[in-house]
Amino acid sequence: RAKEGGKARSELFDERMQAQAVDSLQTEDDLAVAVAQGQLRLHYQPIIDLRDGHVTGVEALLRWEHPRRGLLQPADFVPLAERSGLIVEIGKWVIDEAWRTLEHWYATIEDCHLTIAVNVSRRQLANAELLDAVASSQPTGPAGSALLVEVSEELLVADANAGFSTLHALRMMGVRVAVDDFGAGVSSLAHLQTMPIDHVKVDRHFVAGLGRHRQDEAVVAGIIGMAKNMGVGVVAEGVESSDQLEALKRLGCDSAQGFLLGRPSADVRDVVDLPALESRTLPEPPRSVVVR
Ligand code: C2E
Ligand code: MG
Ligand code: MG
Ligand code: MG
Repeated sequence: RAKEGGKARSELFDERMQAQAVDSLQTEDDLAVAVAQGQLRLHYQPIIDLRDGHVTGVEALLRWEHPRRGLLQPADFVPLAERSGLIVEIGKWVIDEAWRTLEHWYATIEDCHLTIAVNVSRRQLANAELLDAVASSQPTGPAGSALLVEVSEELLVADANAGFSTLHALRMMGVRVAVDDFGAGVSSLAHLQTMPIDHVKVDRHFVAGLGRHRQDEAVVAGIIGMAKNMGVGVVAEGVESSDQLEALKRLGCDSAQGFLLGRPSADVRDVVDLPALESRTLPEPPRSVVVR
């Protein structure tokens, strides 16, 4: 009996595995047409200068308007795109789209200084096509130096040599570089000094602990101090409460991003036309309920 039960369970398991494999093949096929059919979107989240409260730019976050499954988040399809290699083509689309938006802004907004940050993944950083993608649609004039590329810390540690040379090349082209999710990976603060970067983004897990965990405050203060020494900008990610915002200002953080300051939006005007921080009522999130 026990044996039969075990067999049934393993068959069930096989079936489930198979169903998942079919599902992922289906998604991969879908993803291959997503670019061609124009199903990809960029949502924009504002980044705020903490000294004057103004929007300095946005981070572009990828979404997929799937014809059957609705709006998909990066976690739903970026890992698959990485495995299949489709991320290279998708990444090219992201960069083209960001350049198009920048060109439009710089042509229509007076005295524009806004920037767009795009995320690139391991596969793209290792691939020379990233540089081609940036160069092929780079506008002339000021819009052409308003792009930032975000690379996760983890990635820069794993393959520092290849990664660094791509970053150097990007910076030669007038593209600025930010290290994303800093503090989450294994590299030490000292490692930050070796990176060819213009900005560091403090991982939101440390921001979440501000005002609650002394250690997190110490880590954030350390990153800010090191960044100031290096002459690079600091952006705090995942700011959700005004306590966190106040702590960041107190620690001398340059800029911040998070649901408190503005959610990612499909309508870029929502983001660009945001009034300065002081003249806004910020949406305080509900206090989280502790379930015991
Ligand atoms: P990331 O680059 O660290 O982007 C920030 C993520 O945090 C975004 O999730 C954003 O919506 C979310 N976020 C912003 N503010 C808050 C907050 O206050 N609280 C919390 N809990 N989350 C906040 P999203 O859009 O789901 O993106 C997830 C990750 O997917 C990104 O992390 C990035 O690594 C990757 N990704 C996004 N777009 C692209 C892309 O075009 N290409 C590649 N290769 N990866 C991308
Ligand atoms: Mg990012
Ligand atoms: Mg991040
Ligand atoms: Mg992240």
